Amino acid sequence: MTTPEITSAANFIEKIIEEDNQSNKFGGRVHTRFPPEPNGYLHIGHAKSICLNFGLAEKFGGMANLRFDDTNPSKEEVEYVDSIINDVHWLGFDWEGRLFYASDYFQQLYDFALKLIKDGNAYVDSLTAEQIRQHRGTLTEPGKASPYRGRSVEENLNLFERMKAGEFKEGEHVLRAKIDMAAGNLNMRDPVMYRVIHAEHHRTGNQWCIYPMYDFAHGQSDSLERITHSICTLEFEDHRPLYDWFVEKLGIYAPQQIEFARLNLTYTVMSKRKLLLLVREGHVTGWDDPRMPTLSGLRRRGYTAQAIRDFADRIGVAKNESVIDIALLEYFIRQDLNRHAQRVMAVMNPLKVVITNYPEGMVEEMDAVNNPEDPTAGMRQVPFSREIYIERDDFMEEPSKKFFRLAPGREVRLMHAYYIICNEVIKDEHGEVIELHCSYDPATRGGDSPDKRKIQGTLHWVSVAHAMAAEVRLYDQLFNTPTPDEAAEGQDFTANLNPNSLQILNNVKLEPSVAHASLGTSYQFLRQGYFCLDADTTAEKLVFNRTVTLRDTWAKIQTKQ
Ligand code: ATP
Ligand code: MG
Repeated sequence: MTTPEITSAANFIEKIIEEDNQSNKFGGRVHTRFPPEPNGYLHIGHAKSICLNFGLAEKFGGMANLRFDDTNPSKEEVEYVDSIINDVHWLGFDWEGRLFYASDYFQQLYDFALKLIKDGNAYVDSLTAEQIRQHRGTLTEPGKASPYRGRSVEENLNLFERMKAGEFKEGEHVLRAKIDMAAGNLNMRDPVMYRVIHAEHHRTGNQWCIYPMYDFAHGQSDSLERITHSICTLEFEDHRPLYDWFVEKLGIYAPQQIEFARLNLTYTVMSKRKLLLLVREGHVTGWDDPRMPTLSGLRRRGYTAQAIRDFADRIGVAKNESVIDIALLEYFIRQDLNRHAQRVMAVMNPLKVVITNYPEGMVEEMDAVNNPEDPTAGMRQVPFSREIYIERDDFMEEPSKKFFRLAPGREVRLMHAYYIICNEVIKDEHGEVIELHCSYDPATRGGDSPDKRKIQGTLHWVSVAHAMAAEVRLYDQLFNTPTPDEAAEGQDFTANLNPNSLQILNNVKLEPSVAHASLGTSYQFLRQGYFCLDADTTAEKLVFNRTVTLRDTWAKIQTKQ
């Protein structure tokens, strides 16, 4: 596991672009694109790619397109298209009307294929998929030519047109590029360009029953959009010669592909196939489950677009794979929420306290600072009365040495309110503490004593009569190992799921100011962490998600280094 540098230097891609601008390679143009396949929801790894592509366009005064690489009708859905559009917008990027689909180019790609056939650069193969695999050879052995490799141009054109016309079943014929069955790069051993798929496409319906392979669509789509810097992840490095070959044989505009290392995060799976499985098998409640690394999950969890952009900026881009500590992502959301989240008091696990010398029926409005980090955030008033809730954990009948909070005979400060002393512990028939009787010192209003006597503990509290009840969902990592993709022999990654990744608290008491919360509003529950209102909230029930705790493990990692 590596930890990234704390500052983001001009990355190697920026250097390439600067050089290209100097040499006038693209006439000074910078035009990038983000090309998702609409077969799942976007995740934090995609966010890195989005920030990179749109960020470079912004930085160099260029343009960035959003393009759906929708060449596989069997796995793609409109739901995914909609969610992707929404997520890119949410991150704060604008494609200024340049929203494209590879499926817009189906006719053009078909015409490209015809040209390659006519020039003797492509042929229809009638081997089965399995035979094609067997003929392909290995890294150490060259492939074998298909017996159909020598078909005439006329025969190829005829068969390809009949493939398009729907005369064949899936797998009966494919169109292949005619390159080199002995090439060291396996992608150059006559890769498949088109296959028959009798499936309805989310945009073109039943217009087509042959679909281009990703490798035959991607480079040409970049070319058609006159992309200058076609940025992709490292696994496409070996595909670059193929994209360049197509562009050269077609004699069309050539973009420059640049590869960078994909983002990996500890405790996180990023493969869409695995994320889909988590959803389908019900290990999570959906793509937007707050434990998911999807943008919709992170958003529901309370992550802001700013925090994700800051994170993407900080990790920068590299040429070699690494795994980023998820604590770094948490660090950025803490930074953002610390600046912007209103502080409120919330009692997670309530213990009732009766302040016996406080007048019955009296209510005082105590002044409370909304956000000490933000002078413009102002003050609010929090009602105080004779009966309050404190955190069960803030009381110990027999306090241990390092416990400085409430205990019999001990005085503590109630935040924004008064000092109280615990005089009596009330228990039920099982000996469990159910209530404390305390007395307060009226001279300590606001949480300060005129005689400056020493107080060690400061507790948060909520007035019983004014409390709002809520359900609070506490999240831990979805997986119980930093490397969830590495499953033990005979098991898959789901064996690494953390059975305790969700804990629900049903009896949380909140100060009444949270009545104004709207969806996505974030709070710091004092001493507890950052929380946001969840979409499951109803008129009867408030539901909050914990975004992160206050404990910053990233800062600890930094100081240890
Ligand atoms: P699949 O696993 O289905 O291949 P993918 O995660 O590569 O999916 P795409 O929709 O093809 O998903 O990705 C769109 C873009 O996002 C691509 O340019 C891809 O390189 C980039 N991308 C995907 N995952 C990451 C990641 N973890 N880090 C950085 N970029 C990523
Ligand atoms: Mg991909």
